[in-house]
Amino acid sequence: MRAALGGTAALLLPVACVCCGRPDFTICAACGTGLRAGVLHPRRVEQWAEALPLNPRQQPLPVLAAGSYDHELAAVILAFKNRQMPGLAPVLVPALARALREGIATLTTFGLPVVLVPVPIRLAARSRRGYFPVGMLLKGLRHSGVLPSAVPVENLLRYRGWYQFAGAQKGKNRQARVSVRNTMQAHGSQKMAQLATRGAQVLLIDDVLTTGATLAEAQRCLADSGLVVCGAVVVAATPAPDENRAVR
Ligand SMILES: [Zn+2]
Repeated sequence: MRAALGGTAALLLPVACVCCGRPDFTICAACGTGLRAGVLHPRRVEQWAEALPLNPRQQPLPVLAAGSYDHELAAVILAFKNRQMPGLAPVLVPALARALREGIATLTTFGLPVVLVPVPIRLAARSRRGYFPVGMLLKGLRHSGVLPSAVPVENLLRYRGWYQFAGAQKGKNRQARVSVRNTMQAHGSQKMAQLATRGAQVLLIDDVLTTGATLAEAQRCLADSGLVVCGAVVVAATPAPDENRAVR
């Protein structure tokens, strides 16, 4: 019965694989296999992003990515975010889960509380999509039991004022950092004071790492409020731009 209904639904609403275009499935078996292979080994990617914040020893904020932003992973993220396909969240949740487990194990100090803070999106993007992609992935992690209840998710950041409605930053260069600076603010001062008193360690969570400018702005806001950001976990990272390679 379900198969019959599924067949009817496919006739009424033809779907195609978001990666290869093959009809009938949102993601086909071959592309699903390719996607899983690409996210088997989370990797450190801070060297890929030139606008990340630096610590006093001039080292960039550590960032762990589930995979690199290409092939099937890029196609699925693009469809999930920009083609209004929230149904793809379960495809990305296991990838983020693996990176997050490794992030908690390697970027935080054992024994101190860990809190996950998603990088916010602008209201304009949220109302266009009707959902908050990173928030949806974190919800999926919680429901699948991957995220221990001892690790809370706190929405402590938002864009301020008219930046809520402005377009997102474009380009992958130092200018990107300038265009994002002072666009966010932290909120929930009582919650943040509590977390800071308990020595909480923040892991920032985002979908795609490009310049690192957005993570830098998020880190700046939380650090101003007394919170320690020990790293970030993202679903995918874009490789460093070619012009930088040419310079070296
Ligand atoms: Zn496919």
